[in-house]
Amino acid sequence: MSAKKALTPPQSLCMPPGGADSHAHLDDPSLLPELAQVLDRAAESGVSCIVHMFLQHERYVANRGLLLEAAASALHPVTLCFARGLHPEDILRADEEEWEHLAFAAEHDPLVRAIGEIGLDYHYEEGYSPHAMQEPWFRRQLRLARKLDMPVVIHSRDAWEQTFAVLEEEGMRDRPLLWHCFGGNAEQARRIISCGWHIALGGAATYKANSGVREALHAVPLDRLLLETDCPYLAPMPWRGHRNEPAFTVFTAARMAEELGMDAAELWTVTGENTRRFFGMLHSSRV
Ligand SMILES: [Zn+2]
Repeated sequence: MSAKKALTPPQSLCMPPGGADSHAHLDDPSLLPELAQVLDRAAESGVSCIVHMFLQHERYVANRGLLLEAAASALHPVTLCFARGLHPEDILRADEEEWEHLAFAAEHDPLVRAIGEIGLDYHYEEGYSPHAMQEPWFRRQLRLARKLDMPVVIHSRDAWEQTFAVLEEEGMRDRPLLWHCFGGNAEQARRIISCGWHIALGGAATYKANSGVREALHAVPLDRLLLETDCPYLAPMPWRGHRNEPAFTVFTAARMAEELGMDAAELWTVTGENTRRFFGMLHSSRV
């Protein structure tokens, strides 16, 4: 028997329908060829809503229809909606043409429910995604979100204070904002919450070494908490190291519920509702 077969399948956690993966990259080449199966497994595992990040116009044009077709033909209903944004790691691709396409999709595509994922990522060397180029595009996208009155999904890595400074300057306090892949401590979680924002936890929050994130979870009111995969990256335990997919959101839910001492199905349902409310999908995703 291979090691993969020995791992717990997500369906075996028996989560009820109504859960959500608030952050997925379904058009990744590792997921796209088997999208129908990926969505079936998600639905069988209780995931009823997936928020997909469209980060490049080319991929938006090529894959929007494919994604919707796959969702429509899944065994159980899965509702898809999109965020559209320019990722800080893609900053060298940014130009006016890409911007026009992004702004058009944000304004006119009814399934684009947020601007994201956008932010600052100072993890890499300057040559890969120059830091000085990131901030103007981040600000421009925040202004678009304000103009269109849309939520934003924030990506921030090794740029905590800088991200906060931009968000404050751009008047984002008390506006709909989701801090994706939160990896900070309780004090940082409290700072996000005090601004009126939401926090999404992914697979990394299940890793043994990340006890600080699980402690921070106690500082997040239940109505501000969302779950995500960020698939195909960062698969939760026990699938760490494997390709991630939306169905695996159940493992993060189970581990976070254990941390909070609450019923896993309840956390699953609440975080699913939070996702649909945040992205304005409450009326189009009844399960
Ligand atoms: Zn992402």
